[in-house]
Amino acid sequence: MNNQLFIVLEGIDGSGTSTQAELLKKYFQSQGDKAVISPEPSAGPIGNLIRDTLKKRIFFTSDRRLFDEQMAYLFAADRHDHLYNEVDGVFKLIEQGFHVISTRYYFSSLVYNCQTPEQFEFVSRLNYKFPNPDLVIYIDLPIEVSLKRLQERSLQEIYETENKLTQVKTNYQKIFADYQDKLLVIEGTKSIETIHQQIIEFIRLNFSFKNTLN
Ligand code: ADP
Repeated sequence: MNNQLFIVLEGIDGSGTSTQAELLKKYFQSQGDKAVISPEPSAGPIGNLIRDTLKKRIFFTSDRRLFDEQMAYLFAADRHDHLYNEVDGVFKLIEQGFHVISTRYYFSSLVYNCQTPEQFEFVSRLNYKFPNPDLVIYIDLPIEVSLKRLQERSLQEIYETENKLTQVKTNYQKIFADYQDKLLVIEGTKSIETIHQQIIEFIRLNFSFKNTLN
């Protein structure tokens, strides 16, 4: 049986997904397990293209609708590469014995790239073949707190506006209300340590993997 886990952290910008991914990786390692953080957009060629687009270093179109479609295609292409590339793809890493922790996955496409039911349908279709992770952790943070945290960052990406965050949060609530697989929802206003402990507790209760059964 394959005991390696594919865990995804989701949340609006500034919700603490990177912080928790790092702590979770260290926890697995402290238990003698191999673990790696493999975020989306990925560190691969398409992921870099996405990052440059978000920073406005690369420019495709000024038409908002076309831009959203463009991003949806790029993210889906990057996701395929992120999962299946044979150098450092998620499934390759799992085969090599790593737990893989991804900050963001197809859920982010559904919440960031969709403003209308038509867009939701389009993005869902682009992503329908991607498998669910073993666990998705949604860190639920109020918009005001997110904005405060983001103000402290030097480089603000184009998604980080109040309206956008509000829409993204509403979308998250919608998709996770219908989600059928393993999901942990956490209040993002709790302390970093409290959230970390909640995550570990959930994992210990729901999964068995080497060195963590005692
Ligand atoms: P994300 O990767 O989801 O955008 P980060 O993990 O980068 O978010 O966290 C954003 C900022 O908020 C960082 O400065 C981080 O130290 C801080 N932070 C993260 N989690 C918490 C928390 N639970 N309470 C207070 N501050 C937090």
